Amino acid sequence: MLNPKAIKLNPGLYLVATPIGTARDITLRALDILASADVLVAEDTRTLRKLMEIHGIPLGERQVMAYHDHNGAQMRPRLMGLLEQGLTLAYASEAGTPMIADPGFDLAREARAAGYTVVAAPGPSAVVTALTVGGLPTDRFFFAGFLPNASGQRKTALRRYAEIPGTLVFYESPKRIAAMMRDAAEVLGPDRRAAICRELTKKFEEVLGGTLAELTTICADRSLKGEIVVLIERKSSENIHDSDLETLLREALTGMTVRDAADAVAARTGLARRQVYQMALKMEQDE
Ligand code: SAM
Repeated sequence: MLNPKAIKLNPGLYLVATPIGTARDITLRALDILASADVLVAEDTRTLRKLMEIHGIPLGERQVMAYHDHNGAQMRPRLMGLLEQGLTLAYASEAGTPMIADPGFDLAREARAAGYTVVAAPGPSAVVTALTVGGLPTDRFFFAGFLPNASGQRKTALRRYAEIPGTLVFYESPKRIAAMMRDAAEVLGPDRRAAICRELTKKFEEVLGGTLAELTTICADRSLKGEIVVLIERKSSENIHDSDLETLLREALTGMTVRDAADAVAARTGLARRQVYQMALKMEQDE
């Protein structure tokens, strides 16, 4: 037992991250806040009650109020009223970090706009967990959330993301993963590297790495279950010619040291830092 403490919290809204699988992936501070807040608010009240029970946090006289996509507009004035009374509200979405493909944004924005304190109790999120184990570059990433369900709209969205110079991160349902892989291979090219990160922090956690073509085949052969994050590597650097590289480096060298310029251009192009650094050094010497 982690022994949560009742602590004195300043009035305001506390956005509490909760586990994405393993119940013990919760911070001590999150437990302290759940133990001490005047009012508990949750996207799924049963999930929060269960989590508190697992960690031995008494609910006492407190109720758990529901706040989700379908009742947010009605609930916000009530919750703002509680903040007005100087109370402490702890909000947890169903899993992971509130507002990351989960409710909480409008509530936090309204609370902040009205001058109340908004505090994060950071913790797990499937985006960062997938990046940690996915084996693709993490220096830059773009979180795209869920893609549209319909294939045509999904392909249009993927086209918009095609040139982004960072690892793309998507949340995906097991029902659509095969179709998504097919569309991604078609739009972004079959050779881009990707990773399917499944059931993170849970018993059947699995990371499948490969090209989009390889992962499309795997998804056609196997039905993948559970919760899924897809990572897709940025556009390959194979088409970057020395002249392009020189142009990028020349721009970067106007405002940066050789080392920083090489770092920036390597991150942008996906080329090996050593190769970029040597070219930058040569250009610097030639000038
Ligand atoms: N707020 C959450 C967060 O911070 O990651 C995300 C909530 S969103 C409604 C749920 C989606 O997150 C799932 O459909 C899946 O794509 C991803 N996800 C959540 N938990 C996961 C896990 N344990 N393994 C893989 N993906 C997960």
